[in-house]
Amino acid sequence: MKFFARSGFAKLGMAVAFMTGGAVFAGDWVQVLPAKSGYELIKKSGTGREKYTQFGETMIIHGGEIFNDAANKSAPTDSYPVRPGEKLVMVTSKDPAILDATFPGAREVFKGNGFIVLLAGETAAMNINAKSSDFTRVDPVPGNTVVLTAPVRGDKDTFKTDDEIAGFVNKLDMKTFMSDLNDLVNFKTRYTYVAPAQQSVDHCQKILEGMGYKVWQSQFSMGGSSANNLIAEIKGTDEEKHGQIMVVGHLDSTSRQPKTNAPGADDNGSGAAGVIALARLLKESGLKPAATIRFVLFMGEEQGLYGSKAYVKTMSGDEKAKTRAVFNLDMIGFDAVAPLSVMIETSSFNKPMVEKMTELAKSYADFSIQTSYNPYGSDHAPFLNQKVPAVLTIQSEFDNNPNYHQVTDTMEIINEDLCRNILRMNAAAMFVYGVKPEGSR
Ligand SMILES: [Zn+2]
Repeated sequence: MKFFARSGFAKLGMAVAFMTGGAVFAGDWVQVLPAKSGYELIKKSGTGREKYTQFGETMIIHGGEIFNDAANKSAPTDSYPVRPGEKLVMVTSKDPAILDATFPGAREVFKGNGFIVLLAGETAAMNINAKSSDFTRVDPVPGNTVVLTAPVRGDKDTFKTDDEIAGFVNKLDMKTFMSDLNDLVNFKTRYTYVAPAQQSVDHCQKILEGMGYKVWQSQFSMGGSSANNLIAEIKGTDEEKHGQIMVVGHLDSTSRQPKTNAPGADDNGSGAAGVIALARLLKESGLKPAATIRFVLFMGEEQGLYGSKAYVKTMSGDEKAKTRAVFNLDMIGFDAVAPLSVMIETSSFNKPMVEKMTELAKSYADFSIQTSYNPYGSDHAPFLNQKVPAVLTIQSEFDNNPNYHQVTDTMEIINEDLCRNILRMNAAAMFVYGVKPEGSR
């Protein structure tokens, strides 16, 4: 049946091509198949006309038909003939309402890990575009690109337990992390516009000052009101050579009753308490970092990344150039379905940093890790827009968390084991990029 349908469409495609004078021989197809089979199929039967896009363990081949029966027998393939006027549209979102939405008039060819790929005609595409927001972006599907890598994880051959980095990472104090997180949740809300939010900033300032950091607040405006980012700093012993790194996360929260009840345990008490935990780890290690290290808690993230945008705006050209790495922690505490998994997110110019982070994850953490090269919707984005190397660490199940921006985002949903492993990866990265970077004494 499938083949009759195909040849029928191919004829139609030829007719259209003939009428429009285009050089297309057959109708275009979109094929969705396991990534591994996809690469093999292109190598074996590709004509050079088709394009591929990898989303984790799935590949989408588009722009031509290289379907062949042998490949199909070994690999399940979903095929979609492209109707006249249809284009492939990619939705990248952190918003479950978008990820659960239906898109009238469009055909969904893939959904997973915060991505939706749709075949859409002009009207449907316009409706999809209208869903764009600070947390949802809509793009054409890029060709010959890995948008999201397949998951990898360490094993007994890659785990390291007895080197200098392991010694550092093992000092992570999870008990205090959990009690810090609990204290943040106990503010009831950290919605940027209400008083408890500023109280939580002052509270974190006291904690960081107690550790011995130089700490200050930096005011920015958002619409008619203002809020404060919190910055803690330790100067590097050789900033000239090793520059600065930053460990950041947003402290504010939201919900449907944001003024009175937005506990934000996962989003983003987990990341904010994580920033504090990494600051504490550094102090308790007794090590003097070679690079300057800044720990920053942003406000106004939930209204559109106001705090991080304001921060980046104040960075001079020199400061951007000396900032070698920014580690953004946002939602590191929810993992309902085994195995533990994490996604890191950055831009493709920052591949070397991702490769290093992946290696560190395989050595010092125990989870599967994937990288998305389509960054959006959190505080790493303003840095990346200025070509400052930044990565977001986020739970893979962000697209599947029923408590997102709900009053149910409480301590009960926190998976401490995921927090621990994500913090171990970032602790190792902080060590390698900031504490003792290559070439430091
Ligand atoms: Zn968040």
